[in-house]
Amino acid sequence: MEQNDKPRLTGVHFLLTYTCSYECDHCFLYCSPQSVGTFTFNQVKDVLKECGEIGTITRIYFEGGEPFLFYPLLLKGVRTAVEAGFKVGIVTNCYWATSPPDAEIWLKPLIDAGLTDISLSDDSFHAGSEENLSPKYAAEAAETLELDAGIICINPPELNNDRGGNRGEPIVGGGTRFKGRAADKLTDGLPVKPTGTFNSCDEEDFHNPGRVHVDAFGNVQICQGLSIGNMWETPLSQLMSRYEPQSHPICGCLSRGGPVLLAKEYNVNLDGEFVDVCHYCFNVRRALIDRFPEYLTPRPVYGL
Ligand code: SF4
Repeated sequence: MEQNDKPRLTGVHFLLTYTCSYECDHCFLYCSPQSVGTFTFNQVKDVLKECGEIGTITRIYFEGGEPFLFYPLLLKGVRTAVEAGFKVGIVTNCYWATSPPDAEIWLKPLIDAGLTDISLSDDSFHAGSEENLSPKYAAEAAETLELDAGIICINPPELNNDRGGNRGEPIVGGGTRFKGRAADKLTDGLPVKPTGTFNSCDEEDFHNPGRVHVDAFGNVQICQGLSIGNMWETPLSQLMSRYEPQSHPICGCLSRGGPVLLAKEYNVNLDGEFVDVCHYCFNVRRALIDRFPEYLTPRPVYGL
């Protein structure tokens, strides 16, 4: 795609709520039971209408936080999105799956509403114990009900000395990206890299974002805590058609030279060492949060 083309968004992910039943160390969004910010149903409807206006969106996801904490809203949101013609998925930590038959009680109405698939978080972070059987129960119920289910598993970071990198050089495994709470809680003792190497973002396509995350405060996030604009002030369809990374004070720098350029452009000099590009990016952005409150938001995602 040419850099001048307008983005063709195909997915919108509702951060239906920032509230979560857990407070995981690896959470990119710093969610916890104390977190606030939940959509109303009217807001969900407004966003879905805008998704139709955009014309390229095929997939809607409901995630959080933990979307099952607001089950009636989730159910009505799924039904409304399906009726509008979208394929619909959910991401959940499965806290609600106390047994396979009980999990079926939760899933059946969602399936009847037209839910396409579900992603189940199954890793040692979520319940903080190897004994957590909820994801297994949820997976079993999904299989019984013939619902397409995938497992999301992010393990704690560990040092691998025998694969990748230069010979003998430790690399970090486990799949964790070090942003949000993970940047503050999981980086101690891990090997660091020279800051100058963090000169590109290998995860987000700033010119052609395939999906955005939207929250109840109106933020349209291209990466966690990095907002393109506020959809309660400017409708989502207009925000997306006007979006150009080169005129966005944060995305422009990140797209041209990663967090290294972002730090250079705004004279951010951080003490400390960083494990990966996201770890550095997250900290540079947090240092700039008071300068760009409109774009680096919401603050709780930065642990503030
Ligand atoms: S480098 Fe920055 S913008 Fe890119 S994925 Fe990591 S935290 Fe997000």
